[in-house]
Amino acid sequence: MDLELVTIGTELLLGHTIDTNAAYLANALAAVGAHVVRKTSVPDTPATIRDVIADGLARSGFVVTTGGLGPTRDDVTKHAVAALFGRPLITDETYLASLEARWERLGRGGPMPEANRTQAQRPEGAVVLPNPRGTAPGLWVEGAAGIVVLLPGVPHEMRALTDRELVPRLVARTGGTRVTRSRVLRTTGVPESRLADRVGPMEAQLTPVTVAYLPSFDGVDLRLTAWDVPATDADAALDRGAVALQDLLGSSVYGEGETDLAAVVLDLARAAGVRIAVAESCTGGLVAGRLTAVPGASDVFAGGVIAYDNAVKTRDLGVAASILATVGAVSEETVRAMVAGVRARFGVETAVAVSGVAGPDGGTADKPVGTVWLCAACGERVLAVQLGLPGDRNEIRTRAAQAALDLVRRVLRGPEGVG
Ligand code: AMP
Ligand code: MG
Repeated sequence: MDLELVTIGTELLLGHTIDTNAAYLANALAAVGAHVVRKTSVPDTPATIRDVIADGLARSGFVVTTGGLGPTRDDVTKHAVAALFGRPLITDETYLASLEARWERLGRGGPMPEANRTQAQRPEGAVVLPNPRGTAPGLWVEGAAGIVVLLPGVPHEMRALTDRELVPRLVARTGGTRVTRSRVLRTTGVPESRLADRVGPMEAQLTPVTVAYLPSFDGVDLRLTAWDVPATDADAALDRGAVALQDLLGSSVYGEGETDLAAVVLDLARAAGVRIAVAESCTGGLVAGRLTAVPGASDVFAGGVIAYDNAVKTRDLGVAASILATVGAVSEETVRAMVAGVRARFGVETAVAVSGVAGPDGGTADKPVGTVWLCAACGERVLAVQLGLPGDRNEIRTRAAQAALDLVRRVLRGPEGVG
């Protein structure tokens, strides 16, 4: 089933509100095999709303809108749809009674304002979709031209109506037999172009699953999507795709879905029965912040030292002044010494150290902005790497923290974690 989305609200076109409703709907509808083939955002202008819905109906016969159902003067969607279907707006007495009961229950006092009464209006013949979170109901309007479903704009109300009313009705119509479903594999440390070089040659074999590359400062997520497949086959198709990519990419894949690399690190440490400490210079606590943001970190994470000033590197981590004087703070020798120092100080087996040039100043010819040294150690295993990170100060620090966590993950995984 093909359908179109129309998100309504002048605020969306002024850039004041990000159109999260369209994203939620597209996702929820794909999951039950309804294909969003077009989405449009329009201002609260009756003629524009009417035109865009009419165009959508002419193309696909099915339009879902959000917004413009509130009690205020700029909320005009219902009028536009009633006009389009050539039907009068009538008051739904049952819904009006429920609104009045709600007004009483909330103890608002006095008679319910006229503006609220308009929320019980619907085009003649439309079905009211009760709103469990607010006063503007959704509406299902069906006629010769096709189907228009009107949902409120307030995101949590829109979500509740989508889940409780729209999706079950679509499943009832399509039988829910064909679906489009996605799964995400998370990678870090491999640039998008290199991933594409490796994954590209096998993409054809993954059909009907496609791969999308979603880069961020934390790495590249690979989104696998099984398109328009029988519901019973979707998970198996995604499983096959995920296994094929996992085999190809090995330890570059650190998890699925929303998995946080810090949580992966903590789980590995917990399984190995080791504790972690950090020694951070340019990341200034970001690595510790990531680890402690994970609930239950305390059994594994011991603590850390923010050794920003060289004097602190020497005084608190025992980095020899001669190292700092000769090869500098951003060097393999320094991060190795920082790791050794923090392990000794906290009495832990596992540690990671970060030292780099986050910019915008401080870069030199041989250590430009973005040069970062990392060292991670677990027991006898010690890994040290130099990175050249792109971006501004925030990007470099964010990427450095993620890379530091990844190096701990690799050192915890043992020999298979390398490469
Ligand atoms: P409305 O139903 O048009 O009165 O919308 C109520 C509120 O919901 C607006 O003020 C916005 O803050 C929010 N909203 C409306 N449309 C969207 C959308 N497409 N995405 C995210 N938020 C929205
Ligand atoms: Mg509005």
